[in-house]
Amino acid sequence: MPDCVFCKIVKKELPSSTFYEDEYSIAFLDIKQVSEGHSLVISKKHYENFFDVDPVVLQHIILSVQKVVQRLTKALGIAGMNISTNNGRPGQEVFHLHFHLIPRRAGDNLMMWPATSMSPEVLKIMAERIRKFF
Ligand code: AMP
Repeated sequence: MPDCVFCKIVKKELPSSTFYEDEYSIAFLDIKQVSEGHSLVISKKHYENFFDVDPVVLQHIILSVQKVVQRLTKALGIAGMNISTNNGRPGQEVFHLHFHLIPRRAGDNLMMWPATSMSPEVLKIMAERIRKFF
């Protein structure tokens, strides 16, 4: 994709702090650090997000995410990591498949999403609505 920032990073047309590369993916530090060591694992090939990625390619990328997480936790000396992916609007800024690896440390007070407790009745109705699509 000519105008895609992440495609340009893959092709080395833009600078990045890439620290891992394999056949399907690369990993580099996010320019905006949620916490120290915040990294992205992105596909080398352009897919918009989780919705359109080839399932076989996705399997390879998920394995790369695991490998990077295992090494990154060691490199940073931490035990916790949030792995997340934003898909579609709102939420996604760069429309090229990527996974955020967000290092967690004791007492960091990082709050990913506010959550509201729901009654079992409401959850039952919601699950019934969703189940029709499976
Ligand atoms: P999102 O699409 O919302 O998951 O966010 C995309 C992420 O890519 C943001 O956290 C940005 O800080 C990050 N980002 C955008 N451009 C670059 C870049 N050139 N190098 C590193 N990270 C980037």
